[in-house]
Amino acid sequence: MKTNHQSPSPINSRENVLIDKFGRQISYVRLSVTDRCNLRCVYCMPREKMRFLPRDELLSFEEIVRLMHILASLGIRKVRITGGEPFVRKDIIKLIEFISEIEGIERIHITTNGILTSKFIPQLKEMGIRGINLSLDTLDSRKFYELTRRDNFKAVMDSFHKILEYEIPLKINTVLLDGINTDEIIPLSLLARDYPVDVRFIEEMPFNGNPHNPAKIRWDYRQILEVLFQEYPDITKIPDSPHSTSMNYRIPGFQGNVGVIAGYSRLFCGQCNRIRINAKGLLQTCLYGSPELNVKELLRKHDDDDIIKEALQTQVNKKYRNGWEAEKANIAARIANESMSIIGG
Ligand code: SAM
Ligand code: SF4
Repeated sequence: MKTNHQSPSPINSRENVLIDKFGRQISYVRLSVTDRCNLRCVYCMPREKMRFLPRDELLSFEEIVRLMHILASLGIRKVRITGGEPFVRKDIIKLIEFISEIEGIERIHITTNGILTSKFIPQLKEMGIRGINLSLDTLDSRKFYELTRRDNFKAVMDSFHKILEYEIPLKINTVLLDGINTDEIIPLSLLARDYPVDVRFIEEMPFNGNPHNPAKIRWDYRQILEVLFQEYPDITKIPDSPHSTSMNYRIPGFQGNVGVIAGYSRLFCGQCNRIRINAKGLLQTCLYGSPELNVKELLRKHDDDDIIKEALQTQVNKKYRNGWEAEKANIAARIANESMSIIGG
């Protein structure tokens, strides 16, 4: 593979990092490697007529590796590979391996629906993958079909057990939908009792490719916590790691923790250290904002990495304070919310 890049300096000077106007240093990128998916989760995509991007609209592996070298040189240390479903992209395992060899990238995490993941677990372990977030919204195979419009619950559970077998840190992501899986908060939380996994309940966010989203949700973090507190009176809040998106709790006798991700209520924006490169190769500095910089075009137009670095730094400096401000600007620009499969979650 041609690697047209400059090595990162081991310690980044302040001029050589991504920092926003609020003084927040960006050290984490979420990379959506495809918008394609083998499920059609109701909260993420329409049932039919999802128009996926033509191949040449995705960043090539070579472009991604070059970009990751540039980002590493700007102080990015953590990468999350997401999508769409990352494992539907051909040879994705090779890309993950290339990224794992980049100097400066210290932690690779993956978010997956688990359908195709199981067979790659030994290789991922070998590469030193730091964690896998597995999306699992129900323990009932019929409900799985209702939620994902596909019939493959067993494959997800196979991945669940394989990840545990290879001792890769595992977190479960559960999006809660009123009246569909909200009765499963307790059964799903018990996974953290029976296995060494963290289970996180996610507020539904308005990213299903449909511009007409409800103005509020019933199952916000308060409602979710109420159910957990009622069932587990001895539940205690534990300190969250500095840039955590989840509020985390310990339940006596449980091997893992339970958490709530208030993605709709946006409680975690203040400490944000993240940017996103979406499936179209566009930089998005806030989940609730619109894409701000066409990184793909820059990579294709310029051989000089410094031009890309400068453009990234300028844009990151303009990062919104929080998701509310980003959304306001988004609405002002009349941009409909994309499917989460393009943004990457
Ligand atoms: N396909 C992979 C998966 O489902 O894990 C990775 C991509 S998916 C877009 C990343 C995460 O976003 C998943 O945990 C998914 O549950 C979550 N997600 C998707 N749409 C969402 C929505 N409207 N609200 C909240 N979370 C959502
Ligand atoms: Fe696919 Fe993940 Fe979206 Fe579900 S949430 S449709 S698995 S990209």
